[in-house]
Amino acid sequence: MSNPESLTTHCLCGDTSLTVVPKSLEIGACHCSTCRKWSGGAFLAIESVRVSATGDNVRHYDASEWAERVFCQQCGATPLLKIKRRSRPLCACWTVCPAAGYGVVSSNFYQQ
Ligand SMILES: [Zn+2]
Ligand SMILES: [Zn+2]
Repeated sequence: MSNPESLTTHCLCGDTSLTVVPKSLEIGACHCSTCRKWSGGAFLAIESVRVSATGDNVRHYDASEWAERVFCQQCGATPLLKIKRRSRPLCACWTVCPAAGYGVVSSNFYQQ
């Protein structure tokens, strides 16, 4: 699959701007307990080549030794999961919607 171009979107309240360059069009679902508590269910995400999150309410939560989670303090949107030993952040699939051709292709369990 070819890489989609850079996509820009916002969180629920609009304060957090996200620009994502997806690595591929494949969505992975992580259903570990941390993702479920954080996002309300399985965290549906795509791997990105590059991502930026800007805005006055962007917050970084150091969730564990291996992961940092990025969210909007104002509306609670949960756009990014950064796995510290990986260079490519995982972006919530809503950050690249409504791009066509996305489908869940893997189910993961990053942390128990
Ligand atoms: Zn927000
Ligand atoms: Zn998880």
